[in-house]
Amino acid sequence: MTITYELGSSLYVNITNRCSNACTFCVRNKHDTVNGKDNLWLDREPTIDEIKTDFKRRDLSEYDAVVFCGYGEPMMRADVVIEIAKWLKKNHPDIKIRINTNGQANMIYKKDITPQLEGIIDCVSISLNAENAEKYQKLCKSEFGEEAYTGLLEFARLAKRHVPEVVLSVVDIMKPEEIEQCRKIAEDCGVTFRVREFIK
Ligand code: SF4
Repeated sequence: MTITYELGSSLYVNITNRCSNACTFCVRNKHDTVNGKDNLWLDREPTIDEIKTDFKRRDLSEYDAVVFCGYGEPMMRADVVIEIAKWLKKNHPDIKIRINTNGQANMIYKKDITPQLEGIIDCVSISLNAENAEKYQKLCKSEFGEEAYTGLLEFARLAKRHVPEVVLSVVDIMKPEEIEQCRKIAEDCGVTFRVREFIK
């Protein structure tokens, strides 16, 4: 079972294959891996002890960040993300911790969980994917319907109160005018905007 895996200069954490979206472009539809070596499909979800044991075999000084991002939405297990992040910050205070997310955690838990990220998460990167709710739902097929889009924007605004860096991101295959609309949306939310490379 692959719990932690290396990608670029960061160490990624794979804790669930579940997701509240079923994106048409999800890399899981095409590959078993994102780094060419580690299969990210899980037979079962790792326990907190198994995740800690997996971290202990790594030298965290070799990485510029730990990133919760697996073959699924890490915030489906927000309690596990929070407990592991607390443990990492206690034992490795200098390590940067990021969550790559679809931004639907507050809808999943039906409450605002962003205060729990304070002091333990350095960056939340939310996939915006589209310039409006209708297009988002067409692409991402959220179990929350078109409300997922307003929900993720609200999550970004709320997370900004507790997390030093909040990012709304899109991929570089969108049309320039669509990217500009997304940039404006991120500005209106008061968060950073990033155009990231599309992984085929
Ligand atoms: S939110 Fe991410 S993990 Fe979930 S279906 Fe979309 S691309 Fe895949």
